[in-house]
Amino acid sequence: MGVFGIPEAANIAYLGLYAQQHRGQEGAGVISLDGDGPERRVYAYKGVGLVSEVFNSHFDFNKLPGECALGHVRYTTAGSNSLVNVQPFSADLACGTVTVAHNGNLTNADQLRERLIKKGAIFSSSSDTEIFLHLFARGERVGNVTELVVESLHQVEGAFSLLVMLNDRLIAVRDPHGFRPLVLGRLGDGVVFASETCAFDLVGAEYERELAPGEVVEVTRDGEINSYFPFKKSKISPCIFEYVYFARPDSIVFDRNVYEVRKRMGAQLAEEAEVTADLVIPVPDSGITAALGFAQRSGIPIELGLIRNHYVGRTFIEPKQSIRDFGVKLKLNANPSILADRKIVVIDDSIVRGTTSRKLVKMLREKGAKEVHLRISAPPTTHPCYYGIDTPDKKELIASHKTIAEMEKYIGVDSLRFLSIEGLYQAVGDEPLDFCDACFSGDYPVQIGRVKSKSRQAGLFD
Ligand code: AMP
Repeated sequence: MGVFGIPEAANIAYLGLYAQQHRGQEGAGVISLDGDGPERRVYAYKGVGLVSEVFNSHFDFNKLPGECALGHVRYTTAGSNSLVNVQPFSADLACGTVTVAHNGNLTNADQLRERLIKKGAIFSSSSDTEIFLHLFARGERVGNVTELVVESLHQVEGAFSLLVMLNDRLIAVRDPHGFRPLVLGRLGDGVVFASETCAFDLVGAEYERELAPGEVVEVTRDGEINSYFPFKKSKISPCIFEYVYFARPDSIVFDRNVYEVRKRMGAQLAEEAEVTADLVIPVPDSGITAALGFAQRSGIPIELGLIRNHYVGRTFIEPKQSIRDFGVKLKLNANPSILADRKIVVIDDSIVRGTTSRKLVKMLREKGAKEVHLRISAPPTTHPCYYGIDTPDKKELIASHKTIAEMEKYIGVDSLRFLSIEGLYQAVGDEPLDFCDACFSGDYPVQIGRVKSKSRQAGLFD
């Protein structure tokens, strides 16, 4: 979340983070910018945990003064989950104090980091985001500071929706492939940026538009907004998984309302994977929207046979081994009055390792379901993501090494079907239909270098 030219900018950034909590639950931070001339400086507050835990009722926003701020919620895809990796990052460089907030995953991070360290760079985190600061620090200042930033960005590859806050401007960049979303809005006389429009809804900002892939937007202190396209044209490949799982259904992402797309996925699934059942049961919350589409298209009534506890925090400590399956039970419970003796079709958005569905199916049968059919509103997840979604290594993805029949057996369902990739694109609808679907197809738009898994980077900060 970026806020520029608005009083109490840090408070607005914090609210924007609250709305986008689903995009990262491991850490949160806000850095504001205040003062004039040599007094101009940044003020930072960061912590591990949810936004409400980091910025709790004791927090005083007077500690983050100024009319400009960046906010970030951390979702670990590179580097470890510790405080040093919580964004935004700030540093004093030759071009002034620079603050960055980054969504995505750089695919040449290891190579760049190695090269920078050899040249004397001192890293203080294991996050790929810190690389931006080191590149800016070494950038030749040929023209203005925006040119320095843009020039440095030519060296990075992979996914980056990036906000860069400088003394006199805010720069927003979407990588040339457009992997991750980034939107621009107006609030009073100021400008706001966010990953998702739901952040604008909360702070009362007006959604103006999405940044195009490869676009650089510069907002200057006198309110000017300039747009540039300095990068070589690349294959446009926004992440289709934003529609499947990641984004909030009330957001507009890649110019489409997520709820509408997700519902069409459910409807398309009902066409492709017909089933005779008494009830449609969504897995809350991830399967709800698709289940509505499935129920409407199939004519099978929908009921909430699984109830979610909304107060499960991240800090829950797993009890001793003797109490197994606790994780899922704590979050979801099956409702026997709805399930007893019924043939049900359960809808979820994706299967990763298969452990959640296996436990859920067991619970549903224990509570009386006579037949359990599982329908997934996306194709099988067969390949890991290297562009900003946290997926385990390929060998842990159940669909990468088991057939449908083997998965049916492992999960314990009477039948299992997935949405086809063609069906997924049909649900996404109108042109343009250029997306990254590597998690389903293995077709990676950017070479993945030596990036392996997030557990790889063992170092001082892990
Ligand atoms: P699993 O038990 O590993 O098969 O996990 C399946 C559940 O994880 C589904 O309910 C999905 O909604 C959810 N899910 C899918 N992708 C992700 C992700 N990248 N991060 C967290 N949860 C996910």
